[in-house]
Amino acid sequence: MSSLAAARADNFYYPPGFDPDKHGSLNKFQGQHPLRDRARKIGEGILIIRFEVPFNIWCNQCGEHIAKGVRFNAEKKQVGSYHSTKVWAFTMRHHCGCKITIQTDPKNAEYLVTDGARRKVESYDAEDAQTVEIPDANERAAVSADPLASLERKTIQAQQAAEGRAQLAVLAQQSEARHRDGYSLNKQLRAALRQSKKADAQVDAKRKSLGLADHVKLLPESKADAQTAQLVLFQHSGSKFHEKHQDKRRKVTTESIFGAASGARSGSRPGAAAAAAAAAAAAASAAVGGGLPPGKRRPLQAAAAAAAPSAKEQLQQRVLACKRKKLAQQA
Ligand SMILES: [Zn+2]
Repeated sequence: MSSLAAARADNFYYPPGFDPDKHGSLNKFQGQHPLRDRARKIGEGILIIRFEVPFNIWCNQCGEHIAKGVRFNAEKKQVGSYHSTKVWAFTMRHHCGCKITIQTDPKNAEYLVTDGARRKVESYDAEDAQTVEIPDANERAAVSADPLASLERKTIQAQQAAEGRAQLAVLAQQSEARHRDGYSLNKQLRAALRQSKKADAQVDAKRKSLGLADHVKLLPESKADAQTAQLVLFQHSGSKFHEKHQDKRRKVTTESIFGAASGARSGSRPGAAAAAAAAAAAAASAAVGGGLPPGKRRPLQAAAAAAAPSAKEQLQQRVLACKRKKLAQQA
């Protein structure tokens, strides 16, 4: 009790001149309405109350959004009646100065914004919210009374159920794919890896059997390639290359490797040429000199001596004969 006014408001203070029999109540003694300041316009039928905005509204003057549940000091006044129910209007002032009036609508059990603001439209659609809309009692009664409407409703429901079933199957498949257990996934993966390793090993073995290098990649066999390969005719004998090869081989096997016995024919080798030149020079010196004067020479003997094979040449001829015999045996 900090002040007299507060004490009076709480009716705890009885002034000395107050007589209950004479004045009846403190309010009457003090000439006050029981609701005090809130009833200052009671003569105009207005009572000031605390009003809570029942839904979201937009102020018409400043355009500000006023949320549901915001409280105002409003003047409550009866503006009419619906049957025996009074229709109340609540007039309040926004901080921008705009006067907003909301009144009750007993017919629809609602509130109406009549002045100074507009209601924020918040409609609800069951389809948007992906929920099932349950028909009200009137609708149910109308449907059950009309067999055609009932049939139509059942058809629509069956159609919706079929669509839903397909969606459910897809969802179930997706869910199964996402939550499949790791063990079976790992098993599948390892089996696939084993198979590919086995196939690689087979290809490697085939490549080795063909005598190909490691970097050569074998492609899978195709029937078309096999047919084309069968059509190719390989000429193993009778070709020029083959004949030249045979000639070379024959020469190598028949000719001397030293070239001294065969003379100038094997002049291609430097060692053989030197040996041939030395032999010719020895023959010439024997023919020219021989330790006898020119008139008494015996050229035939000298020529025979030169033609007779030395011990070295004899050995060479024997080696050659042995080689030829071996080659003939091999052939
Ligand atoms: Zn405003």
